Amino acid sequence: MTTNTDPTAIPTVTLNNGVEMPALGYGVFQTPPEKTIDAAAEALRVGYRHIDTAAAYGNEREVGEALRRSGLDRADVFLETKIWINDYGYEATRHAFDKSAGKLGVDTIDLLILHQALPSRFDLTVDAYRALETLLADGKVRAIGVSNFMPEHLEQLSQATSIVPAVNQVEVHPFFRQPAVLAADSDRGIITQAWSPIGGITFYRDSEHTSTLDDPTIGAIARAHDKTPAQIMLRWHLQQGRSAIPKSVTPHRIAENFRVTDFELTTDELTAIDGLDTGLRGGPEPADITLDNFGLDIPEA
Ligand code: NAP
Repeated sequence: MTTNTDPTAIPTVTLNNGVEMPALGYGVFQTPPEKTIDAAAEALRVGYRHIDTAAAYGNEREVGEALRRSGLDRADVFLETKIWINDYGYEATRHAFDKSAGKLGVDTIDLLILHQALPSRFDLTVDAYRALETLLADGKVRAIGVSNFMPEHLEQLSQATSIVPAVNQVEVHPFFRQPAVLAADSDRGIITQAWSPIGGITFYRDSEHTSTLDDPTIGAIARAHDKTPAQIMLRWHLQQGRSAIPKSVTPHRIAENFRVTDFELTTDELTAIDGLDTGLRGGPEPADITLDNFGLDIPEA
């Protein structure tokens, strides 16, 4: 199998403000800073042109360094990062942009999103989102969005703010599909971006779950296409109009996860994968996110 190193092979999605985003990105959650430069540089070498990091991951500086070492033009790589809950509030979130941009070493962030809703302090969540709206108006970010927002959070946000999020980044994989969130996003013109797109957290955190990678239905579809289970899951996201941001620090998997544009799943295959949903979340319950439980100070740039 030849390695696909053509970045134009990855489809883009058009966000609701007209910005084009490569649908397949490269995630760096749980990638230690000391591994991030090499891993992200490898992803850029293979052809990814979209990296998803977060202030809370502690590796924005290394993502920026990988971009500089790649020799690619800044404009050719879509950088996405997230504001952590400790930095929610109008002024705090404006300053959080400075921290993230400073660590990334860029003037403009392509997509800046709120990492979580804070259901018990939705006023702070709204103030943070208003700061994103002004950063967008100032041209400091090209698009804004949210993460882990459930339909009720999208509704609450819409009542208090004027710009519809471009993206809602949520846990979506064959074992946890979140159809109500997918529908709410789609109804509002929001692109759903799948985190743990191949089931990462689910099968690594909770031994009760079997791995999506070992699922017999996914395995049979993989054999039919001469592809791997990870490639089948990523293709499933792309064909259903989602963005997906697989993480790997392993060079052959980084390349494998990028080779997902040279085959097509049938409608029956997509439906069979949809049918694997267990309704069991791998990540934290969005309603449980509080500053007390999940607080983390984000250092200055
Ligand atoms: P994932 O991408 O579904 O899975 C990552 C895990 O799968 C890693 O352990 C990786 O191992 C392994 N892996 C990767 N490619 C593989 C392949 N082809 N075959 C077999 N194993 C493979 O899960 P994730 O890291 O949880 O999520 C992806 C990204 O989503 C994150 O990096 C982050 O950017 C984002 N995310 C966001 C949130 C949020 O709250 N917004 C939460 C979680 C994640 P190796 O690295 O050892 O190769």
